[in-house]
Amino acid sequence: MLEKVKGFSADQVIEEFEALTKDAERVQRETLYRILHDNGEAEYLQNLGLRGRTDPHSFKSCVPLVTHKELETYIHRIADGDAYPILTGKPITSISLSSGTTQGKPKFVPFNDELVHSTMQIYKTSFAFRNRAYPLRNGKALQFIYGSKQFKTKGGLTATTATTNVYRSEEFKRTMMDIHSLCCSPDEVIFSPDFHQSLYCHLLCGLIFSEEVQIVFSTFAHSIVHAFRTFENVWEELCFDIKEGVLSSRITIPTIRAAVSRLLRPNPQLADAIYNKCVGLSSWYGVIPALWPNAKYVYGIMTGSMEPYLNKLRHYAGSLPLMSADYGSSEGWIGANIDPELPPESASFTVLPNIGYFEFIPLKEKGDLLEQNSDLLSNQREQEPIGLTEVKVDEEYEIIITSFAGLYRYKLEDVVRVAGFHNSTPKLQFIRRKSLILTINIDKNTEKDLQLAVEEADKLLAAEKLEVLDYTSHVDMSTDPGHYVIFLELSGEAREDVLNSCCDCLDLAFVDAGYVGSRKVRAISPLELRVLKRGTFHKIMDHYLTLGAAMSQYKTPRCVGLSNGKVLQILNSNVLKSFFSAAYN
Ligand code: AMP
Repeated sequence: MLEKVKGFSADQVIEEFEALTKDAERVQRETLYRILHDNGEAEYLQNLGLRGRTDPHSFKSCVPLVTHKELETYIHRIADGDAYPILTGKPITSISLSSGTTQGKPKFVPFNDELVHSTMQIYKTSFAFRNRAYPLRNGKALQFIYGSKQFKTKGGLTATTATTNVYRSEEFKRTMMDIHSLCCSPDEVIFSPDFHQSLYCHLLCGLIFSEEVQIVFSTFAHSIVHAFRTFENVWEELCFDIKEGVLSSRITIPTIRAAVSRLLRPNPQLADAIYNKCVGLSSWYGVIPALWPNAKYVYGIMTGSMEPYLNKLRHYAGSLPLMSADYGSSEGWIGANIDPELPPESASFTVLPNIGYFEFIPLKEKGDLLEQNSDLLSNQREQEPIGLTEVKVDEEYEIIITSFAGLYRYKLEDVVRVAGFHNSTPKLQFIRRKSLILTINIDKNTEKDLQLAVEEADKLLAAEKLEVLDYTSHVDMSTDPGHYVIFLELSGEAREDVLNSCCDCLDLAFVDAGYVGSRKVRAISPLELRVLKRGTFHKIMDHYLTLGAAMSQYKTPRCVGLSNGKVLQILNSNVLKSFFSAAYN
């Protein structure tokens, strides 16, 4: 029997959260004071002439808005071992590598213990609200989490992904214990150098502890979908391991073998129960509640670029609720999801006003917003950023963060919409990454526009009992004029006429006036659909993992440019068929 939860006071966490959010403006001022006071010695702030001032007005007039590019040399000096206080007063303890799937290579971001504390604050806050709605008892979590490769920088700092930095911290383990989310798998599995072996063992450990599992989790929902797609192929082997009490020979890393073998005993009864449940499922619908009968919900980031995986996730989760996790980045956390009952499509993130200083650049309408893309119109003036408590409901903003880890007025390049307020702090909905991904001349399409277009094509495929497993895009300028290429990996073989219709449908689904106008006057050539072999997106993921990306932070790149030559080559060498749209003929 599962015991009732002890040692965690959700009420106290909620009380503290209420106090913080009631006077968000004051908390923001105090937070800025703390950041500037603690880091006043840093060369970066000294050079900007702040001279010890810590008020919002002086801060905004002295410190410029920056992107990662402007801070790169500072961060590299830190990584190279320059001992001078460069971005922070206290030394930076490690370097985080952001997922880097947008640019093709990971970015270096400073990391310190302050980020661990704010991560835990976010985890505890959203847990407290989840626990009110879905109370947990003592138990475990089937967590698909993965440490990534790490290396030492020239200056001797550990460089790895932010999630790995967090998973390694003592505070993480303590918090997971407090919130009854301790991972079923031993550390050797989480920090294995081989992602495929980790995944197999996560599934196995999850099955061994199936009665105790209350949450199925991964940082980004894609990892859960990937895990259950893999489960469909390896379930019989897992049953065999449990029946015999012997770990499959596919696990070759001695430390993982030893750690997992310690948990494994011959258990034919459990193996038979799993086997019978699996054969009784129809197309794996509801596999999660079938195998983990005490699971209360499935948890992970399901918004933004994770939305395309929601259908599949719902399929595996069956009757279990899906709960979208919090909003943050390698650079710092932003907000917690305190409305766990809302479906992921409506999830918002309530900003914690003490974990950073936040500013927002208003982006009024889509037209304005796109004109702010500095790559396109570098001489357009941006609107002045406004403070956390000044934002307006229903408006869209680009978010700027100032962190305890050496980032000052840093453009995260995410677009958010204000869904409402909790006390005096806003609730943000993630809209999309800011950058345009598809543009040839006056056309402007973002990753959200691409997602909507693919959803339209997916509807045609659904009528044929097929689905889009994953997708990406490319602007092909080798034709004159250039054209959009959409790569789709499908769950099965589609008829030519269906694919032709999908191709036309994709072309018509880009409704941006610049695109439609350009297509009509043939200033953009017909859209091309390239259908990929099964497994192509796994190859792309493996490519990123070998570069040091962490599965825990992996996001499929939604546009692949020429600068990302290796991924483009993987895509192009796996094309089964291609089609050109006749939509504007
Ligand atoms: P990383 O580069 O791995 O640190 O990823 C951070 C980025 O992931 C953010 O800037 C967002 O674009 C995205 N992200 C993080 N949390 C969420 C969320 N809850 N919903 C949507 N996108 C998110």
